[in-house]
Amino acid sequence: SWRCLGSLRLTYCSRANIHSFNKLIDMKNIVLLGATGSIGDSCLNVIRQNKKHFRLFGIVLGGNLDKAQKIAKEFNPQHIFVAEPDIDKSHDLLQSYPNILNTEDELQELIQDPCVDIVISAISGFAGLKTSYFAIDAGKTILIANKESIVAAGDILMPLAKIKNSEIIPVDSEHNAIHQCLPLQKNLNEISKIMITASGGPFREKAFNDLSSVTLKDALNHPTWNMGTKITIDSATLVNKCLELIEAHYLFQIPESQIEIVVHPQSIIHSMVTFIDGSTIAQMSNPNMEVPIANALGLDQRLPIDFEQINFSELNLSFEPIADGREVIFDIAREVCNQKGNLGVIFNASNEIAVEAFINQQISFIDIYKVIQRTFEYFPCSKVLTLEDIFEYDKQARIQAEKVIKSLH
Ligand code: NDP
Ligand code: MG
Repeated sequence: SWRCLGSLRLTYCSRANIHSFNKLIDMKNIVLLGATGSIGDSCLNVIRQNKKHFRLFGIVLGGNLDKAQKIAKEFNPQHIFVAEPDIDKSHDLLQSYPNILNTEDELQELIQDPCVDIVISAISGFAGLKTSYFAIDAGKTILIANKESIVAAGDILMPLAKIKNSEIIPVDSEHNAIHQCLPLQKNLNEISKIMITASGGPFREKAFNDLSSVTLKDALNHPTWNMGTKITIDSATLVNKCLELIEAHYLFQIPESQIEIVVHPQSIIHSMVTFIDGSTIAQMSNPNMEVPIANALGLDQRLPIDFEQINFSELNLSFEPIADGREVIFDIAREVCNQKGNLGVIFNASNEIAVEAFINQQISFIDIYKVIQRTFEYFPCSKVLTLEDIFEYDKQARIQAEKVIKSLH
């Protein structure tokens, strides 16, 4: 076992020699939220290749105990938190981890433990908000993949991060690209615009009217990225890009009028920044989430990972505007950026309910847009002051979105 002494981490052993002590000083302790998911997988691949710099202090998951057991066997985390209330007590995992954490207090304690240097926020959807909040509130360095927490609660989380001196580093490939394109001492006045690239998803070439016949299977078939179910549907509707627009607005404190979306089907350029002197800087890699994760985990250093080189001589990069008919959803996202308050949480909640209903085959693909639009229109904009306000609007928006779904039949 091992102990934590303030900011120094020591292996607890009878005769710690100075050599192993020094090696451990630049060892960072990580809590990985959403360890059993797609981003969780990519994070573990990066950590596996950089074991001397990172130690998995804790993993947090929903209910996939089989996968947690595999992770535990390889990485030997100190703590495991499972959100699912009815844990299977006979599962093998409990033999080596009889004290699995399961309450919200335990979750908070784990994330805010003084030993923890880095929290990776990679739970899917609004369920990730509480944990992002815990990390920021404790002043942790937080690597944020869970864009929904920024979209829903940017008004709360961003000022809190400033007060608590919590560094927020983007993992989402577009935002990490922007992060890499910005000079360290970023001067926002030097930015002319940010260009977020979009693959366009599986329906890039479809006219809006043809979307009425697409199936769940079609929507899950993403051309360039392999991701969790919810974000894959968001990519098909382009709501993912809307969430990313709002995320960029909050993270980089840039007005939406200076954020442009451009479709780039090859997903090689992950985003670009144009400066006032006419220079545009782009970040490129083959589409693989380990690249932005390695950048984020490296903090100010470059970490080595195995990656597939871009073959430039065979590369054809193309760009195009977003296909017609999808403007409505982007108008809503831009309104969220301009008005803020409760609009982000309402937008996010209506989308989550709509996506869930589509996955359960209760509504058609095109109905997702109707659910979002009608729910969004129902609520006037108002201020949010606390996290509880966010949870309250989330609840109300979900109820309203369900009503809209009923009215569609
Ligand atoms: P997945 O669906 O693959 O994984 C979700 C993870 O969250 C799983 O580990 C799941 O656990 C866990 N989880 C779900 N609900 C809870 C809960 N209530 N408490 C604790 N853990 C929970 O999602 P992705 O990895 O694709 O996405 C994660 C986040 O990263 C999302 O916000 C997404 O938008 C963002 N993102 C993802 C990208 C990608 O390439 N996948 C790219 C950019 C951003 P279990 O499976 O055990 O139930
Ligand atoms: Mg992205």
